[in-house]
Amino acid sequence: MDRHTSPIIAVYPGSFDPITNGHVDIIKRASGIFDKIIIAVAEALHKNTLFTLKERMDFVKEAVRDFENVEVKPLQGKLLVDFCKEEGASIIVRGLRAVSDFEYEFKLAWINRRLHGNIETVFLIPSEEYAYLAASLVKEIATLGGKVDGLVPPVVAEALYRKKEEIKRKGTGDAHEQSL
Ligand code: ADP
Repeated sequence: MDRHTSPIIAVYPGSFDPITNGHVDIIKRASGIFDKIIIAVAEALHKNTLFTLKERMDFVKEAVRDFENVEVKPLQGKLLVDFCKEEGASIIVRGLRAVSDFEYEFKLAWINRRLHGNIETVFLIPSEEYAYLAASLVKEIATLGGKVDGLVPPVVAEALYRKKEEIKRKGTGDAHEQSL
């Protein structure tokens, strides 16, 4: 492959349950660095997600519709590295927030390198205002009747207010349950 002529395609994977402005910040940064970004929305069966895969994909599509080099695809029933190979991607993008993300993200990057040595994981750091923002936190705020405007795209804020009772029943789907 000729490094200087072939476009660099990056995959940004996640469960995006739901997409937050922190994710959007990372997407914006990545879209300025790489030629094409594919957002891989994971089925995440183990996570008991609040939103269905289709809902999560629709929110992401709406949030990124102004970015010309960003596509949104489902990641279902296959390894991320195999998805990357199929899409011709050589980079996996992940976002790093506070120190708490490090261990999990290093483990993921390590295992993906073991599975496919030619795909590099690149970490991007969000703007300071999103450094502590997590989808689980946003879900908890919405459950308790707080405002999530400014933390998530408007389409997500509306959906969260609508789903308030359901979030109460299901929890935030996060292992490190927050408490506000
Ligand atoms: P996963 O289910 O794989 O943890 P998430 O949808 O929670 O996926 O997040 C996808 C990626 O985006 C992860 O690398 C996560 O660390 C990153 N991320 C999530 N929220 C933020 C944020 N506020 N700022 C920067 N990166 C973030």
